[in-house]
Amino acid sequence: MKTPDTLRAVLARIDGRGYKAYEDIRGEYDFGSYRLTVDYVQPDPFAPPSQIIARLSQAEAGFPPGLFSNAVRRTALEDFLARRFHELSGRSRPGSRGTGRSGLISIDGPPQEVIRRTAVLVGEAAVEARFVVGLPARGRTVLGRQAAAIFFDEIPYLVEKALVWRHLDAAAAARHVDAVEDAAFIRDGLRERRLVAFVADGAILPRASGVDDRPLAGRDVVAFRSPDALRVEFRTPHRGAVTGMGVPEGVTLVVGGGYHGKSTLLNAVEKGVYDHLPGDGRELVVTDPLAVKIRAEDGRFVEKVDISPFITNLPFGRDTRSFSTADASGSTSQAANIMEALEAGARLLLIDEDTSATNFMIRDARMQRLVSKDREPITPFIDKVRQLHRDLGVSTILVMGGAGDYFEVADTVIMMDEYLPKDVTAEARRIAAEGGTGRAFEGGERFGAVRPRRPLPESLDASRGRREASVAAKGLHAIAFGRSTIDLSFVEQLVDISQTRAVGDIILHAARRCLDGSRTLAEALALVERDLREKGMDILSPYRRGDYAMPRMLEVAAAINRLRTLRCA
Ligand code: ADP
Ligand code: MG
Repeated sequence: MKTPDTLRAVLARIDGRGYKAYEDIRGEYDFGSYRLTVDYVQPDPFAPPSQIIARLSQAEAGFPPGLFSNAVRRTALEDFLARRFHELSGRSRPGSRGTGRSGLISIDGPPQEVIRRTAVLVGEAAVEARFVVGLPARGRTVLGRQAAAIFFDEIPYLVEKALVWRHLDAAAAARHVDAVEDAAFIRDGLRERRLVAFVADGAILPRASGVDDRPLAGRDVVAFRSPDALRVEFRTPHRGAVTGMGVPEGVTLVVGGGYHGKSTLLNAVEKGVYDHLPGDGRELVVTDPLAVKIRAEDGRFVEKVDISPFITNLPFGRDTRSFSTADASGSTSQAANIMEALEAGARLLLIDEDTSATNFMIRDARMQRLVSKDREPITPFIDKVRQLHRDLGVSTILVMGGAGDYFEVADTVIMMDEYLPKDVTAEARRIAAEGGTGRAFEGGERFGAVRPRRPLPESLDASRGRREASVAAKGLHAIAFGRSTIDLSFVEQLVDISQTRAVGDIILHAARRCLDGSRTLAEALALVERDLREKGMDILSPYRRGDYAMPRMLEVAAAINRLRTLRCA
């Protein structure tokens, strides 16, 4: 290992030389209280910045073991430290010390969600931060003194303030870790209580705006308050008793006038598969971890999905037990989204009328009379939702302000009224009993089969030109995978581009290591998940990245399903 004096000498020597000379600083340096590794050096000041790792032994960092005594607490502590590092490094701006990215010091910035990531890693022996630095230059000329300021002033300051326990706010760290553990505790307890979601009294659900995920602020914000009939209590390890609305298993309908907060509630439940930081407003909005948002997605690609529970007798006798298309319709895309989610292990479907195909959701009495069943390929969701729960144990929460026919199939009906929920189950039942809908039930006795598919690994082809594998996240909702682009615009439960990045590399890992043409998609993803849990996300990359965040295997499946080269046996 090299000494800091070596680094200082190299920076002095290469000062004023061409940018390539920065290659000479690659290596490991012993800074006394921590070890600094320059893992990757950018080729020019405009290129993606250089990768740096700072590693402190716990003897230096001094974190109380209780703060990372289990996987949930560890992830929360790592998240807390990454946020602190991010906040402190926020003052360094690209361009502040020269051309291009010169002067940037940046760590992967977490969203409102607390997710396992690789930016900061806490272990029994050491604490590690992985960040990037824009090595300073004027034009393409090395600015050695500016670089020295980064390595000898700024990084030591960040390491000290963000990674050494005695410089951190102990109370804030405990609050962060405890809040996350309370949410995880409730999530673990849902199934035993036969609940699929929990929304705490006092939760703030609306967001600042469509592009700002922080809580909506102001006097007009209505805090959540459970209807008495649905109120449940959890005794959490840190906060003690917490009350809120428990959404029971089965079929739950969310009704109410337009603009009364229905979609806002559903969106919060969608994100409740993740933990949130204290102060987010949704830190105790908790959902079954296998909940999947389902929507229509016309134009999407579909490979050999059995959509026959919902769609049969397509024109020209197209087979819907192995349905493929490069351009699905609204209804077939929604059916495929459901069947794929079930194949990947979903236990709760979340559906909003705003983003559903009407003809997939409902076929009313009049339409049934005009268009006979043998001329309509679609069995609407209303005629399958009960069997879905009875046969497969899969629950549904459905926002439906426009079709009261659903009263007949709902176990629970919640009305959003000026942003507050009311339990209107009894009233909805009474209305349903008074006069039938006049509809004929079209769904049959059973839901039907969920047929597992066996993806062919060679079809997940990431090659591009001379490169064997070229995979990159292009924003939160797209992955460049080889010569294809995977469009994830409608995969709404991705929350962080670092998850998207991981999804791309997980697909590659699955294709190389887990899929063999005879394994099913679900089996392969279970293997991937175990690998990631046991060995960490570093298995996804040839070098140690600081910009991965853990996706759910449900989103990985969603991405594989949208890769247009996918072929199944
Ligand atoms: P719906 O789906 O019933 O038509 P939305 O959920 O889209 O209604 O909500 C309509 C608007 O009300 C949104 O702009 C949202 O931010 C706001 N809103 C939702 N819930 C609340 C609340 N609890 N307090 C204040 N504003 C809210
Ligand atoms: Mg809505």
